[in-house]
Amino acid sequence: MNEHQACTCPASKSESFKIVTDHYGLNFIPTGWKLEYTSLDQHEPQRFLYMTGWCLRCGGRDLQSGVSIPGELSGDALLEHVYQEMERYRPFEHRRSDGTYNRSLLGRAGWYMEQDDLTLDEKNAQFLKLFHEEDQRAVEDWICRTRAEEPYTAPRRDRKSTLLYAVLNRARASGDLREIEPILDYYLPNENGPLSPEKDSYLTNYAFSAVSAIDFGCEGIYVELCLEGQFDESGNGRCSIGTFKTLRDDAEACRLMGQLCGVLMYHTAKYVNENIHRYTPRRELEAEVLRKQEKGGGAL
Ligand SMILES: [Zn+2]
Repeated sequence: MNEHQACTCPASKSESFKIVTDHYGLNFIPTGWKLEYTSLDQHEPQRFLYMTGWCLRCGGRDLQSGVSIPGELSGDALLEHVYQEMERYRPFEHRRSDGTYNRSLLGRAGWYMEQDDLTLDEKNAQFLKLFHEEDQRAVEDWICRTRAEEPYTAPRRDRKSTLLYAVLNRARASGDLREIEPILDYYLPNENGPLSPEKDSYLTNYAFSAVSAIDFGCEGIYVELCLEGQFDESGNGRCSIGTFKTLRDDAEACRLMGQLCGVLMYHTAKYVNENIHRYTPRRELEAEVLRKQEKGGGAL
């Protein structure tokens, strides 16, 4: 891999927009952002927000895919535009409304999902870094005024995998997996075997139960953790969010895997309750805001 070198693929030198675009579609793995501009205060025709990255084919590190910033924007309007582009621009992949990606490149869709799931602080810090040092104070001031907190009616959501990992962390921290984890062969998804970007959708409703099924497999014992009820807008009443397997099939293993079912049920219910805002449907949050306003309580 040529750490600091340019992409040497002939397609990236092509005069044909289509050939270059196809090359990016097949090989561009993004890793960061770059903003090209002169000043925040004046109109400027040639400004670009670039997504930077590398070439999957040759390892070249100089790939960038840009979106142009309207020249007439300056000050707050410019910052607002760049911020929204950073949240929106996801070239060469299709993001669906449930947060999943129609995958073409796993590494790229994965990076986009990380971008979508940044905390507000992480997102603000990333945004701030785009600007020249002399502009950072003004940008920080804008962040304080407009991005100090998440909109109440659009909270950051958990994906299916986010929920599973949170439940496992919670159970592990309380010692409930101490006897169980040593007998596990694997569980899926995990950090090295993530859920496909096509399936890892956001959970946008809390009206579900965590139900585990336990059974012998062709070898060992399987436990599957499912959500049953309303957990998003898909209309599906059931989805699996995790599978656990042990190679053992003796009586003690059956007891421990049965225990795992209860542990998963308990910690899923507790975790969702503790983070209920993230799981509340948008229409309920909007209705709540309206009710408060009618009572004269002002905005939340
Ligand atoms: Zn290349």
